[in-house]
Amino acid sequence: RKPPSRKGSFADVPKDLMQQIERLEELFTIPTEDLKKISAHFASELQKGLTEEGGDIPMIPTWCMSMPTGYEQGTYLAIDMGGTNLRICEIILPEEKGEFDIIQSKYRMPEELKTGSADELWGYVADCLQQFIEYHHEDEELDQVPLGFTFSYPATQDYINHGVLQRWTKGFDVDGVEGKDVVEPFEAALKERGLPIKLTALINDTTGTLIASAYTDDLCRIGCIFGTGCNAAYMEKMGNIPKLAHMKLDPETPMAINCEWGAFDNEHKVLPRTPYDIIIDKESPRPGQQTFEKMVAGLYLGEIFRLVLLDLHGNPDCKIFENSDVAKLKKAYTLDSSFLSAIEEDPFENLVDTHLLLLNTLDIDATKPELELCRRLAELIGTRAARLGACGVAAICKKMDWSSCHVGADGSVFNKYPHYKARWSQAMREILDWKKEQRKDPIEIRAAEDGSGVGAALIAALTLKRVQEGNT
Ligand code: BGC
Ligand code: MG
Repeated sequence: RKPPSRKGSFADVPKDLMQQIERLEELFTIPTEDLKKISAHFASELQKGLTEEGGDIPMIPTWCMSMPTGYEQGTYLAIDMGGTNLRICEIILPEEKGEFDIIQSKYRMPEELKTGSADELWGYVADCLQQFIEYHHEDEELDQVPLGFTFSYPATQDYINHGVLQRWTKGFDVDGVEGKDVVEPFEAALKERGLPIKLTALINDTTGTLIASAYTDDLCRIGCIFGTGCNAAYMEKMGNIPKLAHMKLDPETPMAINCEWGAFDNEHKVLPRTPYDIIIDKESPRPGQQTFEKMVAGLYLGEIFRLVLLDLHGNPDCKIFENSDVAKLKKAYTLDSSFLSAIEEDPFENLVDTHLLLLNTLDIDATKPELELCRRLAELIGTRAARLGACGVAAICKKMDWSSCHVGADGSVFNKYPHYKARWSQAMREILDWKKEQRKDPIEIRAAEDGSGVGAALIAALTLKRVQEGNT
């Protein structure tokens, strides 16, 4: 099914605005041929990241070295420190294949924490864990409960319970963490609080998503996050990772790779960046980093939209929001991707929901043509994000020579952004030349199991098993 488009509804749009809509269509639309080029370059960059020399994409070996059988067992704790919330979970893996039970508490990640000090950050995470344990295990004697810590940032790992933060992403900017092992100060915070917990595995959310999805779906080969940030993980063979050749491990041994593909094209070779993408990058706490992520991830979609509207408002060649005060529109990061979702979900022909949304959120009383422009702009930004997301997955599949498999996906954009999946599939079809007669998509994207909770528990279980078997 093709996602809807408002293309036919521009009859009343004045010429100056129509010209702007056409300019935006030109800027944000990525035609099939370009998707193919981007995806081909993406595949070669993934490969380059596995070599000693490296490239833009970090391709981090995670030391998660097996897929689950479905029969993993035990009780585990998990921390999910993503971009928006902090979640503490207790996961029980029972005897039955592919089953799990989970209890969890969510804590808000206070905005100040994202730009505060390292001590405050680790103290806060440890406090939440302590609260969780006191609440669920009052008066119980716990003994070294294994913990899987989902730390969803690029961390170089020499072994599985270790990780040196390469750089913050997703707007985080906590001093004194980059370039250092994150496990050590976190364990110190646990010890200070006398918590009987053993950090067994530090994992990325994408690796967790891959493993959690594979726990219930034998065909799952890739774990993806399309959320506040964007990234993917898949299983490589040791023999295909030149940068680990010195370890002299069996070339057939599997190794999950956390791609950190948000960094794709930091060299600016293929991505069709618009002036708005360039502003986002310049104003971000880490300019020059995460070029791909800044075009596709939830944290940035609303900001791209805001920058376009602000630009049009100040453009002498067209008139928009003339009778409104745009003070609110001037504030960076006031609109998140749920704002665009709501615009794309407006079911009314006259876009009355969008009108109210702009009025309530931005104090802007938009005319009908302005509403049409907003709707089309949201479509363009959302479609571009989905099509670029497909370039990444197609690149992994091409590199690995997988012509059919399942992709486990999670994140707010994948789960909540209207038409994301349909647009993504359409792009895959174009990139990989799927024939019309192929009614079922050979590469199918599916909502993942909870990677940052259940996935973290599974990886902790797989790690303990490896240790028991004496493979460290
Ligand atoms: C991080 C990745 C993470 C992704 C999705 C990116 O900003 O660098 O580690 O997997 O966001 O959460
Ligand atoms: Mg998450």
